[in-house]
Amino acid sequence: MMFSWKWLVVSILLSHFKCALCAMEPVLIVHGGAGTVSEDRIPGKLRGVTLAAKVGYQVLARNGSVLEAVEQAVRIMEADRFFNAGYGSALNVEGDVEMDASIMDGATKATGSLSGLRDLLHPISLARDVMEHSGHNFLIGEGLVSFALDRGFRFLDPPGQLVTQYAKDALEEWKASDQSYRSGEGGTVGAVAIDAHGNVAAATSTGGVTGKRVGRVGDTPIIGSGTYADNALGAVSLTGDGDIIMKVCLAFDVLRTAQLTERELQPVADELLDAMSAALGGTAGLVALDRAGNVAVAHNSLQMSWAYQRGDTVAYGASKHDFNLMPATDSPFASPEGEL
Ligand code: ASP
Repeated sequence: MMFSWKWLVVSILLSHFKCALCAMEPVLIVHGGAGTVSEDRIPGKLRGVTLAAKVGYQVLARNGSVLEAVEQAVRIMEADRFFNAGYGSALNVEGDVEMDASIMDGATKATGSLSGLRDLLHPISLARDVMEHSGHNFLIGEGLVSFALDRGFRFLDPPGQLVTQYAKDALEEWKASDQSYRSGEGGTVGAVAIDAHGNVAAATSTGGVTGKRVGRVGDTPIIGSGTYADNALGAVSLTGDGDIIMKVCLAFDVLRTAQLTERELQPVADELLDAMSAALGGTAGLVALDRAGNVAVAHNSLQMSWAYQRGDTVAYGASKHDFNLMPATDSPFASPEGEL
């Protein structure tokens, strides 16, 4: 009898101990868009992605949810003119900002998407509201606007305040070019997180592609193409030529293929990106986490800014094979002149 009580106590202690050992290390990873970025814009991108990774990670470090973490990380980049999301979004052919966004909760598979949104600085927060309060997965048009107003979101007045000079110049350049709908510099933003319990989430936000038709929808709000999260598989956020990405459902395909083939996400992501480009053209990039918290950063565009925080260390890069580490307390990228 004594033995079995002791055994019970020891096994309970052991299972708690094992649980502590099994606890996942939280990770927050972001990207700032796949494309071709000029040298002078890279420090601004790296400043933005490293800040976003740290802000999102702080949410996890304080036991916040993975959804909150990815939302907060994306909000940092939506407010930053160096990215094609929120303020600084790419312009449609008429010179207006129309944004797409999505978010997904890996624990419940709840999703929220929106498209064609104008004059709201943080589309990702509205996408989260769509997920949590609309009763649906995807809202557009007038219904999206009236839902946002009902939920207390405030649109910028006067309209047009998300338009930057950089985006106007890019539209002029696009008009003078062959007018292909390539993502150019890119700048779509995304965030993926895993917490200590193995919960994952992903979020993606974009202005789309310069010169797009009014009403064009990219891959970003399409669950399985631009964003996917499932605690059993991991989570991923995509960027790049959305009209192509959505034909191969790249977000879901990367996670599912890795699971089915029992391979690491990184080589699977590299291969599927190249397979997409070989079959259909275009380029793309992604950041992802598997269910054990292993990171994948992949792109076949020339650049994609990315950063992640794990523990006290931030990793970041902007070009292929670019991998830098710094303590999370460092901020090596100076603010561009005249900015906060
Ligand atoms: N994937 C985005 C879109 O097609 C653009 C980008 O990521 O650069 O809307």
